[in-house]
Amino acid sequence: MRIDLHTHSSVSDGTESPAELMATARAAGLDVIALTDHDTTAGWAAAAAARPPGLALVRGAELSCRWYGAEPPISLHLLAYLFDPEHPDLVATLTRIRASRAVRAERMIELLVADGYDVNWDDVLRLADGGTVGRPHIAQALIRAGLVETTSAAFAPEWLGRRYRVPKEDIDVFEAVRLVRDAGGVTVFAHPRATRRGRIVPDDLIVSLAEAGLFGLEADHTDHTPEERAHVRALADSLGLAVTGSSDFHGTHKTVGLGAETTTPTVYERLVAASSGKTPVLG
Ligand code: AMP
Ligand code: FE
Ligand code: FE
Ligand code: ZN
Repeated sequence: MRIDLHTHSSVSDGTESPAELMATARAAGLDVIALTDHDTTAGWAAAAAARPPGLALVRGAELSCRWYGAEPPISLHLLAYLFDPEHPDLVATLTRIRASRAVRAERMIELLVADGYDVNWDDVLRLADGGTVGRPHIAQALIRAGLVETTSAAFAPEWLGRRYRVPKEDIDVFEAVRLVRDAGGVTVFAHPRATRRGRIVPDDLIVSLAEAGLFGLEADHTDHTPEERAHVRALADSLGLAVTGSSDFHGTHKTVGLGAETTTPTVYERLVAASSGKTPVLG
Protein backbone atom coordinates (compact mmCIF):
# COMPACT_ATOMS: atom_id res chain seq x y z
CA MET A 1 0.00 0.00 0.00
CA ARG A 2 1.34 3.43 -0.96
CA ILE A 3 -0.11 6.13 1.26
CA ASP A 4 0.59 9.87 0.84
CA LEU A 5 -1.11 11.99 3.50
CA HIS A 6 -0.11 15.57 2.57
CA THR A 7 -0.80 17.15 -0.84
CA HIS A 8 -1.93 20.50 -2.25
CA SER A 9 -4.13 21.36 -5.23
CA SER A 10 -4.84 24.62 -7.06
CA VAL A 11 -7.50 25.31 -4.42
CA SER A 12 -4.52 26.51 -2.38
CA ASP A 13 -0.92 26.71 -3.60
CA GLY A 14 -0.59 23.55 -5.71
CA THR A 15 -0.66 23.68 -9.50
CA GLU A 16 -3.02 20.77 -10.31
CA SER A 17 -6.78 20.99 -9.92
CA PRO A 18 -8.23 18.54 -7.38
CA ALA A 19 -9.42 16.35 -10.28
CA GLU A 20 -6.00 16.38 -11.97
CA LEU A 21 -4.39 15.55 -8.63
CA MET A 22 -6.55 12.41 -8.32
CA ALA A 23 -5.44 11.25 -11.78
CA THR A 24 -1.79 12.01 -10.98
CA ALA A 25 -2.11 10.05 -7.74
CA ARG A 26 -3.41 7.02 -9.59
CA ALA A 27 -0.65 7.29 -12.19
CA ALA A 28 1.92 7.56 -9.39
CA GLY A 29 0.64 4.23 -8.04
CA LEU A 30 -0.84 5.58 -4.82
CA ASP A 31 -3.50 3.61 -2.97
CA VAL A 32 -4.39 6.39 -0.53
CA ILE A 33 -4.10 10.16 -0.93
CA ALA A 34 -5.00 12.92 1.49
CA LEU A 35 -5.92 16.30 0.03
CA THR A 36 -4.66 18.90 2.51
CA ASP A 37 -4.99 22.36 1.00
CA HIS A 38 -4.02 25.31 3.18
CA ASP A 39 -6.92 26.50 5.37
CA THR A 40 -9.70 25.26 3.09
CA THR A 41 -11.93 22.32 2.25
CA ALA A 42 -12.97 23.87 -1.08
CA GLY A 43 -11.33 21.09 -3.12
CA TRP A 44 -13.04 18.19 -1.36
CA ALA A 45 -16.08 17.88 -3.64
CA ALA A 46 -14.15 18.04 -6.92
CA ALA A 47 -11.58 15.54 -5.64
CA ALA A 48 -14.32 13.16 -4.50
CA ALA A 49 -16.12 13.43 -7.85
CA ALA A 50 -12.91 12.67 -9.78
CA ARG A 51 -11.58 9.92 -7.51
CA PRO A 52 -10.64 6.92 -9.65
CA PRO A 53 -11.52 3.39 -8.52
CA GLY A 54 -8.76 1.89 -6.40
CA LEU A 55 -7.68 5.23 -4.92
CA ALA A 56 -8.88 6.04 -1.41
CA LEU A 57 -9.36 9.72 -0.60
CA VAL A 58 -8.75 11.14 2.86
CA ARG A 59 -10.26 14.61 3.05
CA GLY A 60 -8.20 17.06 5.05
CA ALA A 61 -6.58 20.47 5.29
CA GLU A 62 -3.33 22.04 6.47
CA LEU A 63 -4.06 24.67 9.09
CA SER A 64 -1.95 27.81 9.52
CA CYS A 65 -1.22 27.86 13.25
CA ARG A 66 0.88 29.79 15.70
CA TRP A 67 2.40 29.05 19.06
CA TYR A 68 2.31 32.07 21.33
CA GLY A 69 4.71 30.63 23.91
CA ALA A 70 7.74 32.15 22.16
CA GLU A 71 8.60 35.79 21.55
CA PRO A 72 7.92 36.48 18.75
CA PRO A 73 5.34 33.67 18.34
CA ILE A 74 6.28 30.80 15.98
CA SER A 75 4.21 29.78 12.92
CA LEU A 76 3.54 26.09 12.40
CA HIS A 77 1.35 23.86 10.24
CA LEU A 78 -1.13 21.32 11.52
CA LEU A 79 -2.52 18.66 9.19
CA ALA A 80 -6.17 17.95 9.97
CA TYR A 81 -7.94 14.87 8.64
CA LEU A 82 -11.49 13.55 8.38
CA PHE A 83 -13.13 16.39 10.31
CA ASP A 84 -16.68 17.65 9.81
CA PRO A 85 -16.34 20.42 7.18
CA GLU A 86 -19.51 22.06 8.48
CA HIS A 87 -18.50 22.36 12.12
CA PRO A 88 -19.55 26.01 12.77
CA ASP A 89 -16.55 27.16 14.86
CA LEU A 90 -14.08 25.52 12.49
CA VAL A 91 -15.79 27.01 9.43
CA ALA A 92 -15.76 30.47 11.03
CA THR A 93 -12.08 30.14 11.93
CA LEU A 94 -11.03 29.01 8.45
CA THR A 95 -13.06 31.80 6.84
CA ARG A 96 -11.33 34.35 9.07
CA ILE A 97 -7.87 32.96 8.30
CA ARG A 98 -8.47 32.99 4.52
CA ALA A 99 -9.76 36.57 4.65
CA SER A 100 -6.65 37.60 6.56
CA ARG A 101 -4.47 35.87 3.96
CA ALA A 102 -6.07 37.96 1.20
CA VAL A 103 -5.56 41.25 3.10
CA ARG A 104 -1.97 40.33 3.81
CA ALA A 105 -1.20 39.26 0.22
CA GLU A 106 -2.63 42.52 -1.11
CA ARG A 107 -0.43 44.41 1.38
CA MET A 108 2.64 42.53 0.07
CA ILE A 109 1.71 43.57 -3.48
CA GLU A 110 1.36 47.20 -2.31
CA LEU A 111 4.87 47.07 -0.83
CA LEU A 112 6.28 45.68 -4.09
CA VAL A 113 4.44 48.26 -6.20
CA ALA A 114 5.66 51.05 -3.90
CA ASP A 115 9.21 49.93 -4.68
CA GLY A 116 8.45 50.19 -8.41
CA TYR A 117 7.98 46.52 -9.27
CA ASP A 118 5.57 45.59 -12.03
CA VAL A 119 3.14 43.30 -10.20
CA ASN A 120 -0.53 43.76 -9.46
CA TRP A 121 -3.21 42.37 -7.21
CA ASP A 122 -5.56 41.32 -10.01
CA ASP A 123 -2.91 39.01 -11.45
CA VAL A 124 -2.35 37.43 -8.05
CA LEU A 125 -6.08 36.90 -7.56
CA ARG A 126 -6.26 35.29 -10.98
CA LEU A 127 -3.33 33.01 -10.12
CA ALA A 128 -5.03 32.00 -6.87
CA ASP A 129 -8.17 31.21 -8.89
CA GLY A 130 -10.61 31.79 -6.05
CA GLY A 131 -8.70 29.56 -3.64
CA THR A 132 -6.56 30.28 -0.58
CA VAL A 133 -4.07 33.03 -1.50
CA GLY A 134 -0.48 32.51 -0.41
CA ARG A 135 3.05 33.65 -1.03
CA PRO A 136 3.49 31.01 -3.79
CA HIS A 137 0.98 33.00 -5.89
CA ILE A 138 2.93 36.20 -5.36
CA ALA A 139 6.06 34.21 -6.24
CA GLN A 140 4.41 33.36 -9.60
CA ALA A 141 3.67 37.05 -10.17
CA LEU A 142 7.35 37.84 -9.50
CA ILE A 143 8.42 35.15 -11.99
CA ARG A 144 6.03 36.49 -14.64
CA ALA A 145 7.35 40.00 -14.11
CA GLY A 146 10.86 38.63 -14.77
CA LEU A 147 12.05 39.62 -11.29
CA VAL A 148 13.07 36.11 -10.19
CA GLU A 149 13.48 32.82 -12.04
CA THR A 150 12.11 30.27 -9.59
CA THR A 151 9.68 29.92 -6.71
CA SER A 152 12.53 29.26 -4.30
CA ALA A 153 14.31 32.40 -5.50
CA ALA A 154 11.13 34.33 -4.73
CA PHE A 155 11.32 33.03 -1.13
CA ALA A 156 14.81 34.50 -0.63
CA PRO A 157 15.14 37.06 2.22
CA GLU A 158 15.27 39.98 -0.23
CA TRP A 159 11.85 39.02 -1.60
CA LEU A 160 9.01 37.10 0.08
CA GLY A 161 11.22 35.44 2.69
CA ARG A 162 11.68 38.67 4.65
CA ARG A 163 11.80 42.02 2.79
CA TYR A 164 8.20 41.88 1.49
CA ARG A 165 6.82 39.32 3.89
CA VAL A 166 3.77 40.45 5.82
CA PRO A 167 2.63 38.18 8.68
CA LYS A 168 -0.79 36.58 8.38
CA GLU A 169 -3.32 35.79 11.04
CA ASP A 170 -2.97 32.22 12.32
CA ILE A 171 -4.90 29.90 14.63
CA ASP A 172 -3.58 29.34 18.13
CA VAL A 173 -2.21 25.80 17.83
CA PHE A 174 -4.00 24.53 20.94
CA GLU A 175 -7.27 26.03 19.67
CA ALA A 176 -6.69 24.26 16.33
CA VAL A 177 -6.15 20.86 17.96
CA ARG A 178 -9.28 21.39 20.06
CA LEU A 179 -11.41 22.53 17.11
CA VAL A 180 -10.41 19.63 14.87
CA ARG A 181 -11.03 17.08 17.63
CA ASP A 182 -14.37 18.71 18.36
CA ALA A 183 -15.18 18.35 14.65
CA GLY A 184 -14.38 14.63 14.83
CA GLY A 185 -11.01 14.89 13.07
CA VAL A 186 -7.41 13.94 13.70
CA THR A 187 -4.32 16.22 13.80
CA VAL A 188 -0.73 15.64 12.72
CA PHE A 189 2.02 18.24 13.19
CA ALA A 190 3.44 18.89 9.68
CA HIS A 191 7.25 19.00 9.20
CA PRO A 192 7.74 19.85 12.91
CA ARG A 193 11.53 19.94 12.82
CA ALA A 194 12.15 21.62 9.45
CA THR A 195 14.83 24.11 10.49
CA ARG A 196 15.36 25.07 6.84
CA ARG A 197 11.83 26.56 6.76
CA GLY A 198 12.43 28.86 9.73
CA ARG A 199 12.23 28.74 13.51
CA ILE A 200 11.01 25.49 15.03
CA VAL A 201 9.14 24.90 18.26
CA PRO A 202 10.74 23.20 21.29
CA ASP A 203 9.98 19.56 22.10
CA ASP A 204 8.18 20.75 25.26
CA LEU A 205 5.43 22.18 23.10
CA ILE A 206 5.01 18.85 21.33
CA VAL A 207 4.67 17.17 24.74
CA SER A 208 1.87 19.61 25.59
CA LEU A 209 0.20 19.12 22.21
CA ALA A 210 0.27 15.36 22.74
CA GLU A 211 -1.54 15.91 26.04
CA ALA A 212 -4.05 18.14 24.21
CA GLY A 213 -4.89 15.32 21.79
CA LEU A 214 -2.44 15.58 18.90
CA PHE A 215 -2.39 12.27 16.99
CA GLY A 216 0.96 12.30 15.23
CA LEU A 217 4.12 13.88 13.88
CA GLU A 218 5.17 14.03 10.25
CA ALA A 219 8.75 12.69 10.33
CA ASP A 220 9.41 11.76 6.72
CA HIS A 221 9.24 15.05 4.82
CA THR A 222 11.72 16.41 2.25
CA ASP A 223 12.37 19.46 4.42
CA HIS A 224 13.75 17.22 7.21
CA THR A 225 17.37 16.04 7.27
CA PRO A 226 18.00 12.40 8.28
CA GLU A 227 18.92 13.65 11.77
CA GLU A 228 15.70 15.68 12.02
CA ARG A 229 13.65 12.65 10.96
CA ALA A 230 15.34 10.50 13.59
CA HIS A 231 14.69 13.12 16.26
CA VAL A 232 10.99 13.37 15.37
CA ARG A 233 10.66 9.58 15.34
CA ALA A 234 12.26 9.22 18.78
CA LEU A 235 10.10 11.99 20.21
CA ALA A 236 6.93 10.42 18.78
CA ASP A 237 7.90 7.02 20.22
CA SER A 238 8.47 8.52 23.66
CA LEU A 239 5.06 10.25 23.61
CA GLY A 240 3.03 7.47 21.99
CA LEU A 241 2.38 9.61 18.91
CA ALA A 242 2.05 8.15 15.42
CA VAL A 243 4.67 8.91 12.77
CA THR A 244 3.69 9.82 9.22
CA GLY A 245 5.57 10.42 5.99
CA SER A 246 4.23 12.48 3.09
CA SER A 247 5.31 14.27 -0.05
CA ASP A 248 3.69 17.70 0.60
CA PHE A 249 3.19 17.72 -3.18
CA HIS A 250 2.55 21.20 -4.67
CA GLY A 251 2.64 20.32 -8.40
CA THR A 252 5.25 22.34 -10.28
CA HIS A 253 5.60 24.87 -7.42
CA LYS A 254 7.95 22.38 -5.76
CA THR A 255 10.22 19.67 -7.08
CA VAL A 256 8.99 16.82 -4.87
CA GLY A 257 6.88 14.10 -6.55
CA LEU A 258 3.66 12.53 -5.28
CA GLY A 259 4.41 9.53 -3.09
CA ALA A 260 8.05 10.57 -2.59
CA GLU A 261 7.47 9.94 1.13
CA THR A 262 4.80 7.61 2.48
CA THR A 263 2.98 6.51 5.63
CA THR A 264 2.70 2.89 6.81
CA PRO A 265 -0.65 1.07 6.56
CA THR A 266 -0.63 0.51 10.34
CA VAL A 267 -0.42 4.22 11.09
CA TYR A 268 -2.99 4.97 8.41
CA GLU A 269 -5.44 2.50 9.95
CA ARG A 270 -4.88 4.00 13.40
CA LEU A 271 -5.51 7.48 12.01
CA VAL A 272 -8.80 6.47 10.43
CA ALA A 273 -9.85 4.68 13.61
CA ALA A 274 -9.11 7.82 15.65
CA SER A 275 -11.57 9.92 13.64
CA SER A 276 -15.27 10.09 14.49
CA GLY A 277 -16.40 8.58 11.17
CA LYS A 278 -18.63 11.54 10.30
CA THR A 279 -16.34 12.30 7.34
CA PRO A 280 -15.30 8.84 6.16
CA VAL A 281 -12.45 7.88 3.87
CA LEU A 282 -13.87 7.65 0.34
CA GLY A 283 -13.10 4.42 -1.50
P1 AMP B 1 2.15 31.42 3.11
O1 AMP B 1 1.32 30.34 3.73
O2 AMP B 1 1.38 32.31 2.22
O3 AMP B 1 3.00 32.15 4.11
O4 AMP B 1 3.19 30.67 2.14
C1 AMP B 1 3.88 29.56 2.62
C2 AMP B 1 3.88 28.50 1.53
O5 AMP B 1 4.92 28.83 0.61
C3 AMP B 1 4.23 27.11 2.05
O6 AMP B 1 3.06 26.39 2.31
C4 AMP B 1 4.95 26.50 0.89
O7 AMP B 1 4.03 25.95 -0.02
C5 AMP B 1 5.61 27.66 0.19
N1 AMP B 1 7.03 27.87 0.54
C6 AMP B 1 7.52 28.22 1.74
N2 AMP B 1 8.87 28.35 1.69
C7 AMP B 1 9.22 28.07 0.39
C8 AMP B 1 10.47 28.02 -0.30
N3 AMP B 1 11.62 28.31 0.31
N4 AMP B 1 10.45 27.70 -1.61
C9 AMP B 1 9.28 27.42 -2.22
N5 AMP B 1 8.09 27.44 -1.62
C10 AMP B 1 8.05 27.76 -0.32
FE1 FE C 1 2.07 25.36 0.53
FE1 FE D 1 3.24 23.01 5.51
ZN1 ZN E 1 1.77 21.48 2.88
